[in-house]
Amino acid sequence: MKNKLKRLLALFLMMAFVLLSGCQQTNEDNMDESVSADTEDNSIDVGSEDTDVIAEIESIDKSVEYAYSDKIFDRSATEGRFACYYFRSNYIRPKPIGNSSTGDAALLIAPDGTTMLIDFNMAPATAHVVSYLQRLGINKLDYVMASHTDMDHCGGYNALLEYIEVEHIYISDSPSYKTTNHKAGRFVAKAVEKGASYTILKAGMEIDFGGVNMKVLWPTPDMEWPASPTAVEVNDASLVVKFTYGKSSFLFSGDINSAQEIELAEMYGDELQADVLKMNHHGSKTSNSQKWLKTVNPKLTCGMAGAVSSSEVLERYMYMDIPFTLSVLDGATVVSTDGDGVYDVQVEKEREDTYFGVLPTTDGYFQIK
Ligand SMILES: [Zn+2]
Repeated sequence: MKNKLKRLLALFLMMAFVLLSGCQQTNEDNMDESVSADTEDNSIDVGSEDTDVIAEIESIDKSVEYAYSDKIFDRSATEGRFACYYFRSNYIRPKPIGNSSTGDAALLIAPDGTTMLIDFNMAPATAHVVSYLQRLGINKLDYVMASHTDMDHCGGYNALLEYIEVEHIYISDSPSYKTTNHKAGRFVAKAVEKGASYTILKAGMEIDFGGVNMKVLWPTPDMEWPASPTAVEVNDASLVVKFTYGKSSFLFSGDINSAQEIELAEMYGDELQADVLKMNHHGSKTSNSQKWLKTVNPKLTCGMAGAVSSSEVLERYMYMDIPFTLSVLDGATVVSTDGDGVYDVQVEKEREDTYFGVLPTTDGYFQIK
């Protein structure tokens, strides 16, 4: 009986995968490789792209936009708590850049109100990020962290810095941040020009984030940075950062690939355990290894993706009994906690059934313990 159910489930997964991937152009294998290397960065017309994006911000809230609940914008529900917002990023441009409209952007609000944005997506989608921030009443960010130098994580800096005041940025020691030949370097230069200061994060550092402990786990201080990194090397150099608030914990690890996940699992063991995990690399099958998931042992995983990258990965989450939210299915997700290991979760949109299982929700709300 159980096997029959599994087969039925697999069939649903396949159907959903075809439905979801058929209408969008995102492809896991080249999702952000095409925009990773320094040499290819120049293929994008940065100026006109960001001008387009800034123009779009003005109209975004008036557009079709919300068949989505606006409950996630209720700040009173998370006030005085540690809250993480995993933003929806499935904004599809009429003229996509390359083949990707996918990226990460997550907002953290500490119990004392201190704010941090981890990644801000690529230029076409940063309009959404700015829109979310504005609707949450945030015009100034205390911290902005770039997990790594790929465009789908820190590409839309012009739009971000145009609309949002940024106090301090967190980056890794990647050489790409030090040259304006690379978009990541232009992000740093522009932020500094606008008055932001910055810190280079390295494993071993522990920083207080408004009452929440932020511990950097990767890259290590002795990391050797290749002069011309491959797309895989860029992803594997993502900052891995754990936030601990009382008994509650959240892990962010950018786009690290499975080999890097396994290395970290061996290096840190139980220290990697975190209740809420940001799904690696938009749910790609080159990440999200079983060993990683067993070691982190999350109670909930939140993924940000413009399309389902791999039904296999989502199946793995289901078989390992790890609930997940994914922005393409659920819209944005907000997870908040008092530090007691109990998490209130609000999604923007209730998931249609048969799509990778259904989370038990009432108006997009559920609790994880
Ligand atoms: Zn990415």
